[in-house]
Amino acid sequence: MDLKGFIREVPDFPKVGILFKDITTLLADSDALRATIEQLAQPYRNGAVDLVVGIESRGFIFGTALAHELGVGFVPIRKPGKLPSETISAEYELEYGTDKIEIHTDAIAGGQKVAIVDDLLATGGTMAAACQLVSELKGEIVGISFVIELDYLNGREKLGDWPIHTLIHY
Ligand code: AMP
Repeated sequence: MDLKGFIREVPDFPKVGILFKDITTLLADSDALRATIEQLAQPYRNGAVDLVVGIESRGFIFGTALAHELGVGFVPIRKPGKLPSETISAEYELEYGTDKIEIHTDAIAGGQKVAIVDDLLATGGTMAAACQLVSELKGEIVGISFVIELDYLNGREKLGDWPIHTLIHY
């Protein structure tokens, strides 16, 4: 199935010069949605995953569905101040300034095998910070998955030697 055909490209959103990859058009199509979750699950079908971690907020949509598909639990990584219990945080660079993401300290038990999911890999800063959080909690990262990767930004160079799985490349 040609999943790329379900992504809507919106110029100049959220600001001038950005060509935004809109996944709502893919989510709205039942066949495309099912195919997306099946393809995301493919590398993990051997049962080597204990937990799926998803990054706020579009990583929640795909991550929860993937966890359900694999029959494992889901852990959210959130923007600062959203998680109610004890957290650790990681900072990463934006075009201007920095941003931060958080995870509950008890969300991952040491040695658990973790797949981390987000909708899109751009510069890689967000996912690199997520990998740092999972590693700090001694989770074993068995894979990093994206629906979309912007190859020309070389984001995967920030993601070390972990296996990276992407469904749609630009
Ligand atoms: P980065 O940290 O640069 O890899 O950015 C990844 C995050 O920014 C993802 O969570 C995406 O949802 C979002 N993002 C970055 N660029 C785009 C884009 N062109 N279209 C849609 N989302 C984007």
